[in-house]
Amino acid sequence: MGQMLTFAAKQAGFKVVILDPTPACPAAQAADEQIVAPYGDRDAIERLATQADVLTYEFENVDLAALEAVSDRVSIPQGTELLRITKDRIREKTFLRDSGLRTAAFAPVNSADELRQAVATIGLPAILKTCEGGYDGKGQVTLRTVADLDLPVVREILVTGQCILEQMVAFTCECSVMVGRSVSGEVTVFPASENIHRNHILHESIVPARISPALRDEATQVARIIAAKLNLCGILGVEMFMGKDGHVYVNELAPRPHNSGHYSIEACDFSQFAVHNRAICDWPMPEVHLLQPVVMVNVLGQHVEGVRRLIATKPQWHFHDYGKAEVRRDRKMGHVTVLTDDVAATLAEIDATGVWQEEQ
Ligand code: AMP
Repeated sequence: MGQMLTFAAKQAGFKVVILDPTPACPAAQAADEQIVAPYGDRDAIERLATQADVLTYEFENVDLAALEAVSDRVSIPQGTELLRITKDRIREKTFLRDSGLRTAAFAPVNSADELRQAVATIGLPAILKTCEGGYDGKGQVTLRTVADLDLPVVREILVTGQCILEQMVAFTCECSVMVGRSVSGEVTVFPASENIHRNHILHESIVPARISPALRDEATQVARIIAAKLNLCGILGVEMFMGKDGHVYVNELAPRPHNSGHYSIEACDFSQFAVHNRAICDWPMPEVHLLQPVVMVNVLGQHVEGVRRLIATKPQWHFHDYGKAEVRRDRKMGHVTVLTDDVAATLAEIDATGVWQEEQ
Protein backbone atom coordinates (compact mmCIF):
# COMPACT_ATOMS: atom_id res chain seq x y z
CA MET A 1 0.00 0.00 0.00
CA GLY A 2 2.84 2.36 0.91
CA GLN A 3 4.43 1.64 -2.45
CA MET A 4 1.29 2.57 -4.39
CA LEU A 5 0.85 5.70 -2.28
CA THR A 6 4.48 6.58 -3.07
CA PHE A 7 4.02 5.98 -6.81
CA ALA A 8 1.05 8.38 -6.78
CA ALA A 9 3.01 10.96 -4.78
CA LYS A 10 5.99 10.75 -7.14
CA GLN A 11 3.71 11.16 -10.13
CA ALA A 12 2.50 14.43 -8.63
CA GLY A 13 6.08 15.54 -7.97
CA PHE A 14 6.38 15.09 -4.20
CA LYS A 15 9.56 14.01 -2.44
CA VAL A 16 8.88 10.95 -0.28
CA VAL A 17 10.67 9.65 2.81
CA ILE A 18 9.56 6.25 4.17
CA LEU A 19 9.91 5.01 7.74
CA ASP A 20 9.95 1.22 7.76
CA PRO A 21 11.96 -1.43 9.64
CA THR A 22 12.66 -3.53 6.52
CA PRO A 23 15.51 -2.18 4.36
CA ALA A 24 14.41 -1.64 0.73
CA CYS A 25 10.80 -2.42 1.64
CA PRO A 26 8.32 -2.04 -1.25
CA ALA A 27 7.53 1.62 -0.48
CA ALA A 28 11.22 2.50 -0.11
CA GLN A 29 11.90 1.03 -3.56
CA ALA A 30 9.74 3.83 -4.99
CA ALA A 31 10.65 6.62 -2.53
CA ASP A 32 13.46 9.17 -2.45
CA GLU A 33 14.74 8.03 0.92
CA GLN A 34 14.14 5.52 3.70
CA ILE A 35 14.64 5.73 7.44
CA VAL A 36 15.15 2.12 8.54
CA ALA A 37 13.72 1.83 12.04
CA PRO A 38 10.84 0.23 13.96
CA TYR A 39 7.52 2.07 13.55
CA GLY A 40 7.51 3.11 17.21
CA ASP A 41 11.11 4.41 17.23
CA ARG A 42 10.80 7.94 18.70
CA ASP A 43 14.14 9.17 17.32
CA ALA A 44 13.25 7.96 13.84
CA ILE A 45 9.84 9.64 13.95
CA GLU A 46 11.54 12.83 15.14
CA ARG A 47 13.89 12.67 12.14
CA LEU A 48 10.99 12.07 9.79
CA ALA A 49 9.09 15.00 11.29
CA THR A 50 12.11 17.28 10.82
CA GLN A 51 12.49 16.32 7.16
CA ALA A 52 8.83 16.36 6.12
CA ASP A 53 6.16 19.02 5.61
CA VAL A 54 3.33 16.47 5.75
CA LEU A 55 3.38 13.14 7.55
CA THR A 56 1.00 10.34 6.65
CA TYR A 57 0.45 6.72 7.67
CA GLU A 58 -1.14 3.92 5.72
CA PHE A 59 -1.67 1.21 8.30
CA GLU A 60 -3.34 1.03 11.67
CA ASN A 61 -0.61 -0.24 13.93
CA VAL A 62 0.98 3.15 14.36
CA ASP A 63 2.33 4.34 17.70
CA LEU A 64 -0.21 7.04 18.57
CA ALA A 65 1.86 8.58 21.36
CA ALA A 66 4.90 8.86 19.08
CA LEU A 67 2.83 10.64 16.43
CA GLU A 68 1.33 13.00 18.99
CA ALA A 69 4.80 13.81 20.28
CA VAL A 70 5.82 15.35 16.93
CA SER A 71 2.49 16.90 16.00
CA ASP A 72 3.75 20.39 16.89
CA ARG A 73 6.57 20.10 14.33
CA VAL A 74 4.97 18.54 11.28
CA SER A 75 1.51 18.54 9.78
CA ILE A 76 -0.25 15.21 10.42
CA PRO A 77 -3.52 15.93 8.61
CA GLN A 78 -5.04 12.53 9.38
CA GLY A 79 -4.56 13.26 13.06
CA THR A 80 -4.65 10.51 15.65
CA GLU A 81 -8.29 10.57 16.74
CA LEU A 82 -9.45 8.45 13.80
CA LEU A 83 -6.82 5.84 14.63
CA ARG A 84 -7.95 5.81 18.24
CA ILE A 85 -11.47 4.97 17.10
CA THR A 86 -10.62 2.42 14.42
CA LYS A 87 -7.97 0.58 16.46
CA ASP A 88 -10.64 -0.68 18.83
CA ARG A 89 -13.65 -2.58 17.50
CA ILE A 90 -15.90 -1.56 20.40
CA ARG A 91 -15.07 2.12 20.08
CA GLU A 92 -15.55 1.86 16.31
CA LYS A 93 -18.94 0.14 16.50
CA THR A 94 -20.09 2.52 19.23
CA PHE A 95 -19.11 5.47 17.02
CA LEU A 96 -21.03 3.99 14.07
CA ARG A 97 -24.12 3.31 16.15
CA ASP A 98 -24.00 6.81 17.64
CA SER A 99 -23.79 8.17 14.08
CA GLY A 100 -27.15 6.57 13.36
CA LEU A 101 -25.72 3.74 11.22
CA ARG A 102 -26.53 0.03 11.34
CA THR A 103 -23.94 -2.43 12.66
CA ALA A 104 -24.18 -6.01 13.86
CA ALA A 105 -25.50 -6.16 17.43
CA PHE A 106 -22.43 -6.36 19.68
CA ALA A 107 -21.29 -6.64 23.27
CA PRO A 108 -17.91 -6.19 24.99
CA VAL A 109 -16.59 -9.46 26.40
CA ASN A 110 -13.76 -9.95 28.89
CA SER A 111 -14.25 -13.42 30.28
CA ALA A 112 -15.93 -16.77 29.67
CA ASP A 113 -18.78 -15.64 31.93
CA GLU A 114 -19.31 -12.42 30.01
CA LEU A 115 -19.20 -14.42 26.79
CA ARG A 116 -22.06 -16.62 28.01
CA GLN A 117 -24.09 -13.58 28.99
CA ALA A 118 -23.41 -11.91 25.64
CA VAL A 119 -24.45 -15.04 23.75
CA ALA A 120 -27.68 -15.12 25.77
CA THR A 121 -28.43 -11.55 24.67
CA ILE A 122 -27.14 -11.55 21.10
CA GLY A 123 -27.91 -15.13 20.15
CA LEU A 124 -26.08 -17.49 17.78
CA PRO A 125 -24.49 -17.63 15.32
CA ALA A 126 -22.11 -14.94 16.46
CA ILE A 127 -18.45 -14.05 16.03
CA LEU A 128 -15.97 -13.53 18.85
CA LYS A 129 -13.19 -11.13 17.89
CA THR A 130 -10.22 -9.56 19.60
CA CYS A 131 -10.78 -5.83 19.91
CA GLU A 132 -7.36 -4.76 18.68
CA GLY A 133 -4.89 -5.97 16.12
CA GLY A 134 -6.95 -8.58 14.22
CA TYR A 135 -7.00 -8.58 10.42
CA ASP A 136 -7.79 -10.97 7.58
CA GLY A 137 -9.87 -13.11 9.94
CA LYS A 138 -7.06 -13.50 12.50
CA GLY A 139 -8.08 -13.36 16.16
CA GLN A 140 -11.70 -14.32 15.55
CA VAL A 141 -13.90 -17.38 15.73
CA THR A 142 -17.45 -18.10 14.63
CA LEU A 143 -19.70 -19.57 17.32
CA ARG A 144 -22.59 -21.59 15.91
CA THR A 145 -23.71 -23.68 18.90
CA VAL A 146 -23.40 -23.34 22.65
CA ALA A 147 -20.86 -26.19 22.55
CA ASP A 148 -18.56 -23.93 20.49
CA LEU A 149 -18.08 -21.73 23.57
CA ASP A 150 -15.81 -24.45 24.96
CA LEU A 151 -13.52 -24.57 21.93
CA PRO A 152 -9.83 -24.06 22.84
CA VAL A 153 -9.63 -21.19 20.34
CA VAL A 154 -12.28 -19.30 22.34
CA ARG A 155 -10.04 -19.37 25.40
CA GLU A 156 -7.03 -18.39 23.27
CA ILE A 157 -8.89 -15.32 22.01
CA LEU A 158 -10.26 -14.35 25.42
CA VAL A 159 -6.83 -14.35 27.08
CA THR A 160 -5.46 -11.83 24.56
CA GLY A 161 -7.41 -9.00 26.20
CA GLN A 162 -10.58 -7.05 25.49
CA CYS A 163 -12.87 -8.87 23.04
CA ILE A 164 -16.17 -8.23 21.30
CA LEU A 165 -19.02 -10.57 20.44
CA GLU A 166 -20.85 -9.67 17.24
CA GLN A 167 -24.07 -11.03 15.92
CA MET A 168 -23.57 -12.74 12.55
CA VAL A 169 -25.21 -10.54 9.93
CA ALA A 170 -27.07 -12.41 7.18
CA PHE A 171 -25.84 -10.74 4.01
CA THR A 172 -26.14 -11.18 0.25
CA CYS A 173 -22.67 -9.77 -0.38
CA GLU A 174 -19.90 -7.69 1.12
CA CYS A 175 -19.06 -4.29 -0.32
CA SER A 176 -16.74 -1.45 0.46
CA VAL A 177 -16.65 2.20 -0.41
CA MET A 178 -13.57 4.41 -0.41
CA VAL A 179 -14.21 7.98 0.66
CA GLY A 180 -11.74 10.86 0.59
CA ARG A 181 -12.03 14.14 2.47
CA SER A 182 -9.60 17.04 2.30
CA VAL A 183 -8.28 19.31 5.03
CA SER A 184 -10.88 21.87 3.88
CA GLY A 185 -13.71 19.37 4.14
CA GLU A 186 -14.36 18.57 0.49
CA VAL A 187 -15.55 15.00 0.01
CA THR A 188 -15.26 12.52 -2.85
CA VAL A 189 -16.71 9.01 -2.89
CA PHE A 190 -15.53 6.11 -5.05
CA PRO A 191 -17.93 3.63 -6.63
CA ALA A 192 -18.82 0.71 -4.34
CA SER A 193 -16.76 -2.43 -4.77
CA GLU A 194 -18.22 -5.91 -4.28
CA ASN A 195 -15.74 -8.01 -2.34
CA ILE A 196 -15.33 -11.76 -2.46
CA HIS A 197 -13.26 -13.29 0.34
CA ARG A 198 -11.60 -16.67 0.59
CA ASN A 199 -10.39 -17.88 3.97
CA HIS A 200 -11.19 -14.38 5.32
CA ILE A 201 -8.76 -12.78 2.85
CA LEU A 202 -9.95 -10.52 0.05
CA HIS A 203 -9.85 -12.53 -3.17
CA GLU A 204 -11.67 -10.43 -5.76
CA SER A 205 -13.20 -6.97 -5.99
CA ILE A 206 -15.83 -6.29 -8.63
CA VAL A 207 -16.86 -2.75 -9.59
CA PRO A 208 -19.59 -1.71 -10.03
CA ALA A 209 -20.85 -3.89 -7.20
CA ARG A 210 -23.67 -6.12 -8.38
CA ILE A 211 -26.22 -4.59 -6.02
CA SER A 212 -29.36 -2.53 -6.57
CA PRO A 213 -29.06 1.20 -7.33
CA ALA A 214 -30.86 1.86 -4.02
CA LEU A 215 -28.22 -0.07 -2.06
CA ARG A 216 -25.44 1.66 -4.01
CA ASP A 217 -26.90 5.02 -3.04
CA GLU A 218 -27.25 3.97 0.58
CA ALA A 219 -23.65 2.72 0.66
CA THR A 220 -22.45 6.06 -0.73
CA GLN A 221 -24.55 7.95 1.77
CA VAL A 222 -23.18 5.88 4.65
CA ALA A 223 -19.61 6.70 3.54
CA ARG A 224 -20.43 10.42 3.38
CA ILE A 225 -21.96 10.39 6.86
CA ILE A 226 -18.91 8.63 8.29
CA ALA A 227 -16.46 11.02 6.60
CA ALA A 228 -18.33 14.04 7.96
CA LYS A 229 -18.79 12.69 11.51
CA LEU A 230 -15.13 11.72 11.72
CA ASN A 231 -13.85 15.00 10.33
CA LEU A 232 -11.94 12.67 8.07
CA CYS A 233 -8.78 13.86 6.38
CA GLY A 234 -7.34 11.51 3.77
CA ILE A 235 -8.85 8.33 2.42
CA LEU A 236 -10.93 5.82 4.37
CA GLY A 237 -12.37 2.44 3.45
CA VAL A 238 -15.83 1.56 4.74
CA GLU A 239 -16.46 -2.20 4.77
CA MET A 240 -20.14 -3.09 4.68
CA PHE A 241 -22.52 -6.00 4.54
CA MET A 242 -25.47 -5.80 2.16
CA GLY A 243 -28.03 -7.33 4.54
CA LYS A 244 -30.58 -9.84 3.37
CA ASP A 245 -33.10 -7.49 5.00
CA GLY A 246 -32.26 -4.86 2.35
CA HIS A 247 -30.20 -2.66 4.67
CA VAL A 248 -26.55 -1.68 4.74
CA TYR A 249 -24.59 -2.76 7.84
CA VAL A 250 -21.17 -1.25 8.48
CA ASN A 251 -18.60 -3.86 9.46
CA GLU A 252 -15.31 -2.02 9.76
CA LEU A 253 -13.47 1.17 8.93
CA ALA A 254 -9.98 1.20 7.42
CA PRO A 255 -8.40 4.64 8.04
CA ARG A 256 -6.17 4.43 4.95
CA PRO A 257 -6.13 3.16 1.38
CA HIS A 258 -7.70 -0.29 1.22
CA ASN A 259 -7.01 -3.43 -0.79
CA SER A 260 -10.55 -3.28 -2.21
CA GLY A 261 -9.77 0.17 -3.66
CA HIS A 262 -6.79 -0.94 -5.75
CA TYR A 263 -9.07 -1.24 -8.78
CA SER A 264 -9.12 2.59 -8.90
CA ILE A 265 -5.52 2.76 -10.18
CA GLU A 266 -6.58 1.72 -13.69
CA ALA A 267 -10.37 1.82 -13.60
CA CYS A 268 -10.90 5.39 -12.34
CA ASP A 269 -9.71 8.79 -13.45
CA PHE A 270 -8.24 9.32 -9.94
CA SER A 271 -6.87 6.47 -7.80
CA GLN A 272 -7.52 6.10 -4.07
CA PHE A 273 -3.81 6.88 -3.57
CA ALA A 274 -3.89 10.07 -5.62
CA VAL A 275 -7.00 11.18 -3.71
CA HIS A 276 -5.35 10.48 -0.37
CA ASN A 277 -2.30 12.56 -1.27
CA ARG A 278 -4.47 15.39 -2.57
CA ALA A 279 -6.63 15.29 0.56
CA ILE A 280 -3.76 15.56 3.05
CA CYS A 281 -2.17 18.38 1.02
CA ASP A 282 -5.53 20.15 0.83
CA TRP A 283 -5.76 20.04 -2.93
CA PRO A 284 -9.37 20.15 -4.20
CA MET A 285 -11.22 16.82 -4.22
CA PRO A 286 -12.02 15.60 -7.73
CA GLU A 287 -15.27 13.95 -8.74
CA VAL A 288 -14.12 10.38 -9.37
CA HIS A 289 -15.45 8.48 -12.40
CA LEU A 290 -15.33 4.78 -13.14
CA LEU A 291 -13.92 4.53 -16.67
CA GLN A 292 -14.81 0.87 -17.18
CA PRO A 293 -16.15 -2.05 -15.14
CA VAL A 294 -13.31 -3.91 -13.46
CA VAL A 295 -12.28 -7.04 -11.60
CA MET A 296 -9.31 -6.98 -9.22
CA VAL A 297 -7.87 -10.29 -8.04
CA ASN A 298 -5.29 -10.57 -5.25
CA VAL A 299 -2.02 -12.40 -5.71
CA LEU A 300 -1.04 -14.23 -2.53
CA GLY A 301 2.22 -16.07 -1.91
CA GLN A 302 0.82 -19.31 -3.31
CA HIS A 303 -0.27 -17.55 -6.53
CA VAL A 304 2.94 -15.72 -7.40
CA GLU A 305 4.54 -18.38 -9.59
CA GLY A 306 1.34 -19.01 -11.50
CA VAL A 307 0.67 -15.32 -12.02
CA ARG A 308 4.19 -14.74 -13.37
CA ARG A 309 3.47 -17.42 -15.98
CA LEU A 310 0.19 -15.70 -16.87
CA ILE A 311 1.92 -12.47 -17.88
CA ALA A 312 2.87 -14.05 -21.21
CA THR A 313 -0.72 -14.97 -22.08
CA LYS A 314 -2.80 -12.01 -20.80
CA PRO A 315 -1.80 -8.88 -22.70
CA GLN A 316 -4.82 -6.90 -21.42
CA TRP A 317 -4.26 -7.65 -17.72
CA HIS A 318 -2.52 -5.19 -15.40
CA PHE A 319 0.00 -6.99 -13.16
CA HIS A 320 1.19 -5.41 -9.92
CA ASP A 321 4.07 -7.04 -8.06
CA TYR A 322 4.76 -5.29 -4.75
CA GLY A 323 8.40 -6.40 -4.65
CA LYS A 324 8.17 -8.08 -1.24
CA ALA A 325 11.34 -10.06 -0.60
CA GLU A 326 9.80 -12.97 1.28
CA VAL A 327 7.09 -15.09 -0.35
CA ARG A 328 4.77 -16.66 2.22
CA ARG A 329 1.49 -18.51 1.91
CA ASP A 330 -1.44 -16.06 2.22
CA ARG A 331 0.88 -13.02 2.14
CA LYS A 332 -0.36 -10.36 -0.27
CA MET A 333 2.36 -10.19 -2.92
CA GLY A 334 0.56 -8.23 -5.62
CA HIS A 335 -2.69 -7.95 -7.52
CA VAL A 336 -4.07 -8.12 -11.04
CA THR A 337 -6.59 -5.67 -12.48
CA VAL A 338 -8.73 -6.54 -15.47
CA LEU A 339 -10.85 -3.87 -17.15
CA THR A 340 -13.83 -5.53 -18.78
CA ASP A 341 -17.19 -5.04 -20.41
CA ASP A 342 -18.28 -8.52 -19.32
CA VAL A 343 -17.66 -9.12 -15.61
CA ALA A 344 -19.05 -12.67 -15.65
CA ALA A 345 -16.75 -13.66 -18.53
CA THR A 346 -13.76 -12.09 -16.77
CA LEU A 347 -14.50 -13.92 -13.50
CA ALA A 348 -14.71 -17.16 -15.51
CA GLU A 349 -11.46 -16.31 -17.32
CA ILE A 350 -9.69 -15.78 -13.97
CA ASP A 351 -11.01 -19.11 -12.68
CA ALA A 352 -10.06 -20.89 -15.89
CA THR A 353 -6.38 -20.00 -15.42
CA GLY A 354 -6.32 -22.47 -12.51
CA VAL A 355 -3.92 -20.19 -10.60
CA TRP A 356 -6.47 -19.36 -7.90
CA GLN A 357 -8.15 -22.76 -7.94
CA GLU A 358 -6.54 -24.54 -5.00
CA GLU A 359 -8.55 -22.69 -2.38
CA GLN A 360 -11.98 -23.15 -3.88
P1 AMP B 1 -13.38 -8.45 9.95
O1 AMP B 1 -12.03 -8.81 10.45
O2 AMP B 1 -14.26 -7.83 10.97
O3 AMP B 1 -13.34 -7.64 8.67
O4 AMP B 1 -14.09 -9.83 9.51
C1 AMP B 1 -13.57 -10.64 8.47
C2 AMP B 1 -14.71 -11.28 7.69
O5 AMP B 1 -15.51 -12.09 8.56
C3 AMP B 1 -15.70 -10.29 7.07
O6 AMP B 1 -15.23 -9.85 5.83
C4 AMP B 1 -16.94 -11.16 6.96
O7 AMP B 1 -16.88 -12.03 5.85
C5 AMP B 1 -16.89 -11.98 8.21
N1 AMP B 1 -17.60 -11.29 9.31
C6 AMP B 1 -17.02 -10.52 10.25
N2 AMP B 1 -17.94 -10.03 11.11
C7 AMP B 1 -19.14 -10.46 10.69
C8 AMP B 1 -20.47 -10.31 11.17
N3 AMP B 1 -20.76 -9.60 12.26
N4 AMP B 1 -21.46 -10.91 10.48
C9 AMP B 1 -21.20 -11.66 9.38
N5 AMP B 1 -19.95 -11.87 8.90
C10 AMP B 1 -18.92 -11.29 9.53
